[in-house]
Amino acid sequence: MPLIENLLALYSVDKQVRGLTSRVESAKIYLNVQERQLKEIQLEQAENSQQRKQHQAHISTIETETGSIDDRINHLREELNKTVNDKQYSAVLAEINTLKEQRKAFEDEELTEMSAVETLEESASYIKGRLEERQTVLASAAVELKTRETEIAEQLAELEVQRKAAASIIPEDALSTFDSIADDYEGESMASIDVEDLKRREYSCNSCSLRISLDALTTLLGSSENLVICGSCDRILYLKDDTRQAICPSN
Ligand SMILES: [Zn+2]
Repeated sequence: MPLIENLLALYSVDKQVRGLTSRVESAKIYLNVQERQLKEIQLEQAENSQQRKQHQAHISTIETETGSIDDRINHLREELNKTVNDKQYSAVLAEINTLKEQRKAFEDEELTEMSAVETLEESASYIKGRLEERQTVLASAAVELKTRETEIAEQLAELEVQRKAAASIIPEDALSTFDSIADDYEGESMASIDVEDLKRREYSCNSCSLRISLDALTTLLGSSENLVICGSCDRILYLKDDTRQAICPSN
């Protein structure tokens, strides 16, 4: 068979291989997205837990401080009873009042901290919900990938054999050109030539609609062993039988 026909056979099986693997690829991409989102939520969860710990540690410190203030106040109250004159009494009382003010400041601070913990706990519960939801989606994405891989395995193995056979009869240069174009355009490596206007001898590329030069057409008509690449979209050009017949009725 001429080169172009061999390339068309390869093109057909190559597209099927790519079509099958792209189903698996899209499932892989989807799974990766879910994994990344899950990691982001886990990070958020860790940060939330860290912040809660910090606030709780601060609350413990405040409680220790107020505890020691209470001890000191109790001790001063005992001293108050033992004072011998007004001056001493006033001094101890003043100290007690200062300590009470300090205690009030700590109490206010503790309330602020407790409200921060509460807000963080609410966020934690929201984060937990999102995490569970993401884990469910991730699990089904993993199952979907596995299913698609299994589904195509047999068919893909068969097509790979066909692809190998189709590629084996194509000269190395042409094959490497074909592979590179197919990789660049997701398997869309070849384009037929359309007749725009037979009388005016106007022809175009079926892939990009750009006008094909008469030179290129003549080369293709001359031999099916020639590779002609579209100057605009890079596809390997070919003539369908009916197009060839229309252009050269004698053939
Ligand atoms: Zn083109």
